[in-house]
Amino acid sequence: MSTETILILGGSFAGISAAHFAFKHVLPQLPKKEGVTYNVTLVNPSKDLWWRLAAPRESVSKQLMPSDKTFYPIEPAFTYAFPKFKFVQGSATHVDPAGQTVSVETVSEEQQLIPYAALVIATGFTTPSPLFTQTTDRKALEKVHVAFQEGLKSAKTIVIGGGGPVGVETAGEVAEILNGRPGFMASAPKNPKARVTLVCGDKKLLPLLRPAIGQTAEQFLKRLGCDVMYNNRIVGSTKMGEEEGAKTKVELSNGEFIEADIYIDATGSRPNTGFLPKEWLDTRNRLACNPKTLRVEHESAGPRVYTVGDVGSYTRGGLIDLADAVPVAMTNLKNDLLAHLTGEAHKGDRHYTANLKEQQICPIGTQKGVGAFGGFRVPSQMVWMIKGRDYMIGQLAAGTLRGDQYKKDAKWTPVQHVGKAGLSSG
Ligand SMILES: Cc1cc2nc3c(=O)[nH]c(=O)nc-3n(C[C@H](O)[C@H](O)[C@H](O)COP(=O)(O)OP(=O)(O)OC[C@H]3O[C@@H](n4cnc5c(N)ncnc54)[C@H](O)[C@@H]3O)c2cc1C
Repeated sequence: MSTETILILGGSFAGISAAHFAFKHVLPQLPKKEGVTYNVTLVNPSKDLWWRLAAPRESVSKQLMPSDKTFYPIEPAFTYAFPKFKFVQGSATHVDPAGQTVSVETVSEEQQLIPYAALVIATGFTTPSPLFTQTTDRKALEKVHVAFQEGLKSAKTIVIGGGGPVGVETAGEVAEILNGRPGFMASAPKNPKARVTLVCGDKKLLPLLRPAIGQTAEQFLKRLGCDVMYNNRIVGSTKMGEEEGAKTKVELSNGEFIEADIYIDATGSRPNTGFLPKEWLDTRNRLACNPKTLRVEHESAGPRVYTVGDVGSYTRGGLIDLADAVPVAMTNLKNDLLAHLTGEAHKGDRHYTANLKEQQICPIGTQKGVGAFGGFRVPSQMVWMIKGRDYMIGQLAAGTLRGDQYKKDAKWTPVQHVGKAGLSSG
């Protein structure tokens, strides 16, 4: 009896989606051979999917965003696929492409060596601030949020670094929780309790959106008592003491310093690629892949290695992009596996095309927001309806966990397969 494993590293939006796609559209089409079984193994440090999108609100208030709404156990979402679905709670520490195995350190600190027939790397990214990244289990992240909320109670000066969506959303939530909801027509809070400053390295907020939308974002932030500082980067931050509640000295690129009760670093992200060979990475440490097929093509990677989600070099990130990428990577995986297992001709490649339209929805506090979708500006009220009221949990969380959007696959046209240099095409 032998087992062919599709091994997926990372069990968040990308990894869970890839696993559902595998059960719905890959495994059913693999050749039935006596003595051969197929399984999908998903490796993730936490046994829960965390609804990271809600982090800006969850960080500031467990009343407004309780963690029961943001954590969802992964394994029960795959009961339909037992026993072919296996979940390993742990982290990949090393990939051996020659032996086609991955070393994993489990949550109980055991070492496991997992062989694969095909490998999907979906390990995403880590943020500089611990508020926005789940590194281990649910309890650990809840603790981070509780400690932050304690600190907020007495904070008078808060600095947020980063004018992207995470910085803007967080600034809005922080300012509203501290300074209160302003009246309908108010342009600033009456009695602000805290001075909140968003430091933006660029001359405008929200780089993916047109300048006019960034300006509206600034007005909405001002309403909540948050000032925006443009053309200024955070060049350093130092804790000014060991004790709890010690201030942070934040150094700006214009040479000024701000002494902040709380500093939140929302300046970008780091891909989780530390366990991969350096030569597989691009200049930004993302996993380099063919931007059309999503195969990892470095010759040392060997055959049947793919990437999906924000860890991959093909994407500017986000869930909409992911929904386009998962069927591509997983179809190419299926056709590569079929050719490898049957020895028959390759059925052709599926290609990914990046959707580069102006697209981003950004709540600013619990009442307002800005954004664009498919190149069209979205009014504040609509931003609230789509995302601001619950960060899309009601609309999307259960379906994401169940893989609803991958129940059916779209029609696609095969492109002639070109194998990796020096490798068999299967
Ligand atoms: C605060 C915030 C708000 C956001 N809001 C939006 C939004 O509104 N809309 C939108 O489209 N996008 C949003 N994003 C971006 C969105 O969160 C990402 O696009 C999405 O999380 C990418 O999913 P992923 O599965 O690729 O990676 P991740 O969500 O980063 O997940 C990677 C998973 O891999 C695990 N992992 C890491 N290392 C290893 C390892 N060595 N072995 C095994 N597992 C590992 C991680 O623990 C994690 O579970 C937001 C991001 C943040 C931070």
